[in-house]
Amino acid sequence: MDTFDNFIRGQWTRSRHGATFGDENPAKRGSNLGAFQSSTADDVREAIDAAAEAFKSWRRTSIADRQRYIAAFLNLLKDSRGELARIVTLENGKTIKESRAEVDSALVEGGHHLQQVAGFFDRAGQKSKRDLTTWVKLEPVGVAGIISPWNFPMNVMCRKTLPALLTGNTVVFKPATFTPWSGLFMTQLFERAGLPAGVFNCVTGLGSSIGNAIVDDPRVRAISFTGSTAVGKKIQARAAANLTRTQLELGGKNALIVMDDADLALALDAAATAGFSNAGQWCTSTSRVLLHKKIATRFLDMLVARADGMVVGDGMNESTDMGPVAGPQQYADVTAAIRQAVADGTRIVAGASSPESRAASPDGYFVRPTVLTGVTPDMPAFRDEIFGPVLAVCEFASFEEALALANNSIYGLSSAIYTTSAATAAAYVDGIEAGLAHVNVHTGYKEPSLPFGGVKQSGAGLPENSETGLEFFVDRKAVYERLT
Ligand code: NDP
Repeated sequence: MDTFDNFIRGQWTRSRHGATFGDENPAKRGSNLGAFQSSTADDVREAIDAAAEAFKSWRRTSIADRQRYIAAFLNLLKDSRGELARIVTLENGKTIKESRAEVDSALVEGGHHLQQVAGFFDRAGQKSKRDLTTWVKLEPVGVAGIISPWNFPMNVMCRKTLPALLTGNTVVFKPATFTPWSGLFMTQLFERAGLPAGVFNCVTGLGSSIGNAIVDDPRVRAISFTGSTAVGKKIQARAAANLTRTQLELGGKNALIVMDDADLALALDAAATAGFSNAGQWCTSTSRVLLHKKIATRFLDMLVARADGMVVGDGMNESTDMGPVAGPQQYADVTAAIRQAVADGTRIVAGASSPESRAASPDGYFVRPTVLTGVTPDMPAFRDEIFGPVLAVCEFASFEEALALANNSIYGLSSAIYTTSAATAAAYVDGIEAGLAHVNVHTGYKEPSLPFGGVKQSGAGLPENSETGLEFFVDRKAVYERLT
C-alpha cells in the first residue's frame, strides 16, 4: 500500500507527528487505497510559512507568466484525464463516466479563468482631472486557504485554486478526508507544471483537527470553502476574528417544479439527472420534486420506472448508472434519513425502506435511487439536505403554491421549473429565492461565465466562477496620484 505525503515548499513531506489515515473505496467496504498524512496544526503552520514566503515573489510575476503555469497545469490535466477519473471513482464512488465529466468540467472552467484573467486587471478605471489621476489597483490578498469537499474532489478544488493562483495569491489546500488521493494527484500536476516552491501547498488531515489552524492564522487572508452549512458557519465565525474574507459554497434543498403544461419527458430527465447523478451528492442536486396535481400520477409512474431501472453498482463498470454514496458516514446519514421519512408517514415508491435489502452488493455503500411521496413541509425529508439519491415529492395546485413550497427552505442554492409558459417562467425567475434559476434546464447545470453560489444559508461571500471568482481573491487599492 502506498503512503502519500504532504506537499510543502515544493517538497513531499511526512507529517511531523507521523500518523496516517486510510482511504476506503466506497464500492468495497473495508478496502484501503493508501495511507495519507494525518497532519497537525504544526504541519499547517509550515505550509502557511511556505505560502507566505512564496507570496512575496509570486505576487510580482506577470499575468502572462501565471497564465503559462496554469496553461501547463491544464495541459497535464487533460493528458491525465483517464488516470485521474479512475482515482476519483475509486475513492469517491461515482461512475467512471461521471468522473470523466468532472475532469472535463474542470478543464472548461479552468480554460475560462485562464482567459478572463487577461482582461481582469485592465479595469483600473484611470481618470484624470486636472493634475489628479485616480485609479484602482487590484492586488492579490496573500495566502488563500482552500478547503474542498469529497463530492467533486477535483473540480471544486480547481474552481477555487486556479482563480487564486492566476490573481497572484499563494495557496494552502486541504482536501476532504474521503478523497485525499485526487487532491494529491492534482498537487503532482501543479508540481509538474513547474510552479515555484511554496506557491501551492497541500496538507491532508481531518478538517476537525487542522481546519482551525488554516482559518485562524492571520496570514491567511481568504478562505474558500465548499461543504456543509454547519461547517461553513463555524468557518465564517472563526474567520471573523481576523476579518478574513470567506467564500462559502454550502448546502441546498433544491426544488424542481413541474407544471401541468411541462414537457414531461424533459422534466423526467431533469429529475433523474440532477436527482441521482453522483448518487445525489451534488450541492445542486434536485432533492424536492414539486408536481402539479394534474400531472402528478403520470409523472410519478415515469419517475419510478426510471429510478427502478437504474443499474446501481461499482462505478468502475462502464454500464453502472449510479455508484455507492461516498462512505460509511454518508451511508449511515442517508439511510437514517430514509427511515425517518418512512416513520414520518411518507411512502417509498422507488427504492426500499431497508436500503440494504435492494443494494447491488453488500460490499459497498449502495443506496437505491429513492422516491418518497406524501412529503409535507414540516418533515425533515422536505427541510433537510439528505445528500443522497433521494427525491422528496410534493404536489401543488397552482404556480403560487409551487413557488411558496420551493421557497419554504433555509437554503437557496439551485432551482428549476419545467413549463411551456413564458409568463410562468418569468414569474418564477422573479420569485424564486435561489442563486441559480433554471427554466427547462436541470438544477445541476452551470456555466463558468456565470456566478455560482447560493443565497440564504446556501452560501456567503462572492460566488465562484464568473468574474466574481477572481474578484474574491483581490483587494482594491484606490490610488490618488498628483505627480508634479
Ligand atoms: P463537511 O462540511 O464536514 O466537509 C467539507 C470540508 O470541510 C472537508 O474538507 C472537511 O474536512 C472540512 N472540514 C470539516 N470540519 C472543518 C472545520 N471545523 N474547519 C475547517 N474545515 C473543516 O462535510 P462532510 O464531509 O461532513 O459532509 C456532511 C454533509 O455536508 C453532507 O451530507 C452534505 O449535506 C454536506 N456537504 C455539502 C457539500 C456541497 O457541495 N455543498 C459538499 C460536501 C458535503 P474532512 O473531510 O477532513 O472532515
